[in-house]
Amino acid sequence: MSEVDHLLSKKVADRYLKREVLGEGTYGVVYKAIDTKTGQTVAIKKIRLGKQKEGVNFTALREIKLLKELKDSNIIELIDAFPHKGNLHLVFEFMETDLEAVIRDRNIVLSPADIKSYLQMTLKGLAFCHKKWVLHRDMKPNNLLIGPRGQLKLADFGLARIFGSPDRRFTHQVFARWYRAPELLFGAKAYGPAVDVWAAACIFAELLLRRPFLQGNSDIDQLGKIFAAFGTPKLSQWPDMQYLPDYVEYQYVPGQPLRQLFPMASDDALDLLSKMFMYDPKARISALQALEHRYFSSGPPPTEPALLPRPPPKRDSLNSKVSDFNQREGPIVLSPPRKSRRVMPHREGIDGHTYQVDKVDDHVDEIKPAAGERSEHVPMSLDFSVFGARPPSRPTINRAKQVLVESSNM
Ligand code: AMP
Repeated sequence: MSEVDHLLSKKVADRYLKREVLGEGTYGVVYKAIDTKTGQTVAIKKIRLGKQKEGVNFTALREIKLLKELKDSNIIELIDAFPHKGNLHLVFEFMETDLEAVIRDRNIVLSPADIKSYLQMTLKGLAFCHKKWVLHRDMKPNNLLIGPRGQLKLADFGLARIFGSPDRRFTHQVFARWYRAPELLFGAKAYGPAVDVWAAACIFAELLLRRPFLQGNSDIDQLGKIFAAFGTPKLSQWPDMQYLPDYVEYQYVPGQPLRQLFPMASDDALDLLSKMFMYDPKARISALQALEHRYFSSGPPPTEPALLPRPPPKRDSLNSKVSDFNQREGPIVLSPPRKSRRVMPHREGIDGHTYQVDKVDDHVDEIKPAAGERSEHVPMSLDFSVFGARPPSRPTINRAKQVLVESSNM
């Protein structure tokens, strides 16, 4: 970093008065801070830029680039970004709490109208991402932040990736396991927005049940939990499943009636849930279609965000995640794994017949802008011209590395 750049970044850093630590994510600490220029409270995510070859840098770049293009009332706003002392600082609007804290707070009663409101905001944020050809890829309640007026916003795009042509290859090791779609659990490398809809369905279920719905303790167990709930999928239901890289045949078990799983839900809620939980990703409802489902037009209307019940603005982590349903064993795996290289016998499997999927990361780090989207210039402390005024159609890892070298020289 040159002397001038150093002074510049210090000047920007001086703008923010650091307060307490809000939490720690995978890639760094998040601080509460005051923007002395505007008086606004902000959250600053500090990401180490030190080691050029580590994933953290790519994650940071992804997050900046994606957020820069995603401006919506249900998406967290990236206010500023600047390098300082070998770290990249991302300045976000400050959010008081998150959906996980709402769901876990036993003092909060969630009415059907409240659940509808939280789900609607989630799907609106998602539909916006998908319209811009962006997958979130890490949808879970603690990534759905809640602002001071009750607005829910999708956050933490660290794993998100822009998707393009159907043959794109992605890593399937995305999403917290409990929110992972069956196609990802069977190792799909090319997947689409349906993976986010599955996760949103898990969040919908969690709002209804007030606990995580499908709590697998391995990828195989996760599929077992899914099949125990909805029945082992038949080929007629999901013809392409047999071609997925990690497909293994499971013992057939019938599904349980949704009404039994969600006794308090309305018929409309159950109908929407069943469409969001379709096994075949091609048949799964889209976020936009879900918003048009009669669940949202039939009574009761969704609660106004400002009137939604929320926990006091502190960010405690609460536990108690085990449920009766999740203690039950799922169906067993019948067929041997297709690729022994990737699916290894698991000694401590539930019945001696289970297999553990080896974690494989493809390290595909391509970023593609939304088709036909213009990249507007957002004034920020970090010079985004390094990404190109209009992002190239498919920047590659090498391009990203080059960007990193440039930005770290600041
Ligand atoms: P993350 O790296 O996004 O997982 O964030 C780590 C923690 O920081 C989260 O669990 C939140 O508690 C907190 N956090 C992240 N972003 C914000 C924000 N915009 N406002 C307030 N707290 C945040």
